[in-house]
Amino acid sequence: MLSNDSMPASTKTEDLKEELREAGLRATGSRVAVLRCVRLADRPVALADVVALLGGEAPDRATVYRNLVDLADVGLLRRAHLGDAWRFEGQDEKDHAHFVCTQCGNVECAPEVTLQVGSGRASPHAVKDGHFQVQLHGVCDDCQ
Ligand SMILES: [Zn+2]
Ligand SMILES: [Zn+2]
Repeated sequence: MLSNDSMPASTKTEDLKEELREAGLRATGSRVAVLRCVRLADRPVALADVVALLGGEAPDRATVYRNLVDLADVGLLRRAHLGDAWRFEGQDEKDHAHFVCTQCGNVECAPEVTLQVGSGRASPHAVKDGHFQVQLHGVCDDCQ
């Protein structure tokens, strides 16, 4: 089956299974549940968030963590150390900045923030190549 890269990420079980198999992973029930859960979240989620969101459906913590790492390793999820923890989010078409609250630790996506990278000689290669993450630190709406 041909996959269309411009399609929005699906959360249908059959599509998720297909994506897992195409990525070379076995399409286990827990991987499908974890992938769907992260895709449906509106912000990057940590292990504890995923376990809480899955509720009764959740396998044990160690399994959820292994699933998250497996999914990130094959590129189905993004992984970033944000705030106080490793967090995971669905793959979208564009890198974006994240906002980390310095009081409660909540992390939100900040896709409206853009950074202009100049052509000066001082920056490391990773900056010129776009291989970096932008984190904004401040106080979130709830804590203000
Ligand atoms: Zn906050
Ligand atoms: Zn994000």
